[in-house]
Amino acid sequence: MWRANSSTSKIMNSFNMQRYYPAGQEFEIDPVCEMKVDPKNPPFQVIHKGKTYYFCSEVCKHLFERVPDKYIHIEEGKE
Ligand SMILES: [Zn+2]
Repeated sequence: MWRANSSTSKIMNSFNMQRYYPAGQEFEIDPVCEMKVDPKNPPFQVIHKGKTYYFCSEVCKHLFERVPDKYIHIEEGKE
């Protein structure tokens, strides 16, 4: 299980920046821990600035809600 840890999340955050999501996948990526989440039956979700984010756990959801900008990466040149 992934635990809240600021140094770990910094590392994960840098990985996240390198990750890109292929179109047409049947899953969403939890932006906090990068786990695959089924968007049809997401355990947790948050709507932030009109976009829905899915989370594997309440921990990830709370982390995201606390500092959403930390986990949101504006992808230049595409949606
Ligand atoms: Zn997660």
